[in-house]
Amino acid sequence: MTARAPLNQDAVLGLTAEVARGPVQARARQTDEEARWPGENLRALQAAGLGGLVVPAALGGLGHGLHTLTRVCELLGQHCASSAITFGMHHVGAAVMAAKATPAQQARYLGPICAGEHLTTLALSEPGTGAHFYYPQLDLRARAGGGFEANGTKTFVTNGAHADSYVVSARSQDADLGDFSCFVLPEGTPGMTWGEPWAGLGMRGNSARRLELRGVQVPASDLLGAVGDQIWYVFNVVAPYFLMAMTGTYLGVADAALREAISHLKARTYSHSGRTAAQENVLQYRVGGLWSELERTRQLAYAAAQAGDAGDPAALPALLSCKAAVADTAVLVVNEAMSLMGGVTYRDGSALDRHLRDVRAAPVMSPTTDLLRLWTGRALLDQPLLGE
Ligand SMILES: Cc1cc2nc3c(=O)[nH]c(=O)nc-3n(C[C@H](O)[C@H](O)[C@H](O)COP(=O)(O)OP(=O)(O)OC[C@H]3O[C@@H](n4cnc5c(N)ncnc54)[C@H](O)[C@@H]3O)c2cc1C
Repeated sequence: MTARAPLNQDAVLGLTAEVARGPVQARARQTDEEARWPGENLRALQAAGLGGLVVPAALGGLGHGLHTLTRVCELLGQHCASSAITFGMHHVGAAVMAAKATPAQQARYLGPICAGEHLTTLALSEPGTGAHFYYPQLDLRARAGGGFEANGTKTFVTNGAHADSYVVSARSQDADLGDFSCFVLPEGTPGMTWGEPWAGLGMRGNSARRLELRGVQVPASDLLGAVGDQIWYVFNVVAPYFLMAMTGTYLGVADAALREAISHLKARTYSHSGRTAAQENVLQYRVGGLWSELERTRQLAYAAAQAGDAGDPAALPALLSCKAAVADTAVLVVNEAMSLMGGVTYRDGSALDRHLRDVRAAPVMSPTTDLLRLWTGRALLDQPLLGE
């Protein structure tokens, strides 16, 4: 595995900011209006050397963790939430692969990921189990001659039909509820069928599509780890990376909305008084409250991510809480920014139109706010996280 030049967090954030303020910002409106998957933006981020961001340095990656991922997604989310999530989901998939990759998987998948030549993503959700993504029903059956056959349906697969591979969760035959195996599915494998193109209310560049698997042959070499031993993936790898990618994205959306509101209030001048809206006490008070809410949430997220990176056992409740906190905060901030900016924002194509639609995905993307609050409480009360 060729080692990549080390990039510290500042360098990573500098490169991300350049792409975010360049092509990502330039295409944000088109991505939303045309529900266009932001492939050029992802390629620009890969070309900047960020494809293997969270792959350990020993496997050829940049070796960054949850904190850098959060901040990368935040920078992207300030300009285009779809670009942030699509790039974030690539890293979640890469982190799951890297957790137990065999030498063959390192060469076939992680090498190209680190070289910026392979995009992956996570296919966990299913129509039957909905928000309960940790109970996959997709059937993974061992074949007599070796390898497996996969049958079932995935839904909301971000980067669907565009990624080079999918990290798919499954339940091995006759296993108990909660059995969680993962395998890598290269795009174009016979037996894969994509559903309709994605037409979301927001996150319109996500290409979050339905995927049918019928009689898909999975070689044993594409299984990640061993059959059924991977429920630990959910809380050790999938959830932390997934949560922080989403947390960063919606912090970015909220930040952008608050900035829009602040610039608007400074510029809005009333003809009857000659005063700006920024000079009104009530509006000053409301902006102060929103800033404080956002900053408090951001600091919780950064602290949770840093504790997770340090392997602190106390990180779990914070990691679980911060995506729920961001969902509440980001929806509040975008909503309030809209009220602060008044009627000018209440029309198609206004500065907040896209943010308002994008941010509503924050509480419903799994782990949903309901489940995160439940798990946080269970972690604090020493109760098993899953189950009734
Ligand atoms: C834009 C977008 C992108 C997505 N990208 C991906 C992706 O890349 N990969 C992927 O695998 N999935 C993805 N998803 C799927 C997502 O993570 C959820 O799994 C999915 O939205 C669940 O939808 P549902 O309507 O079936 O929820 P339901 O299961 O019907 O839940 C509806 C509501 O009920 C609540 N609820 C249900 N059961 C309980 C319970 N026992 N206790 C408390 N509350 C409960 C839920 O919290 C939720 O608020 C994406 C979704 C969206 C919207």
